[in-house]
Amino acid sequence: MSKYIVGLTGGIGSGKTTVADEFSRLGITLVDADVIARDVVKPGTDCLKAIVKQFGEQMLLPDQTLDRVQLRTAIFSDPDKKQWLNALMHPAIREQMLKQLEEAESAYCFLVAPLLFENQLEKYVHSSVVVDVPEQVQVSRTTSRDDVSTEQVKNIIKAQISRSDRLAKADVVINNDMPWAEVKPKIEQLHAKYMALSKKKT
Ligand code: ATP
Repeated sequence: MSKYIVGLTGGIGSGKTTVADEFSRLGITLVDADVIARDVVKPGTDCLKAIVKQFGEQMLLPDQTLDRVQLRTAIFSDPDKKQWLNALMHPAIREQMLKQLEEAESAYCFLVAPLLFENQLEKYVHSSVVVDVPEQVQVSRTTSRDDVSTEQVKNIIKAQISRSDRLAKADVVINNDMPWAEVKPKIEQLHAKYMALSKKKT
């Protein structure tokens, strides 16, 4: 098990994946909360079976995967159903996340979670890194990457923790509002720091 766990977060389009991929290239294991949240409802899982039992076969797409849009619609205006779903999903996600963190073998590892602070996942990490860019950069990078409108991105930003609260909770901030060639050496420095910290822990 990695001796040191670092939480990596940031708002939509801030550059979490880009930063995480760089650490991965340096040999560091990434545990990705979003990937796990998708994995626990894959066909054949207990979670997907429970969802179909509760909400019906219409929750399945023709290829038998979860119809996320249908599910979102079903829970949208029904707090009880939303609570039921959270009570099902959260323990399954937590269990899988802890298992993967336990299995991580690099000197230290990352828990990559867009909602690290919103979902109180910081209790599982020794330290947190926030990837930060101003809101207009989040909007411009996300709209040029995905087929989404400025308004959709702004709504997602509004639903996430505020930039100032996120920064206040961060142990380390990576300013990603600069060319990648300038960010990369900072990541290498941070890697050296976490390698040293993880050695101290052993
Ligand atoms: P999401 O929250 O939507 O999953 P994210 O935080 O993982 O996004 P990325 O996908 O890593 O963000 O980055 C968003 C976009 O910005 C990508 O197209 C990426 O290539 C680009 N990008 C990341 N860092 C930089 C940078 N320093 N300079 C220019 N473009 C960048």
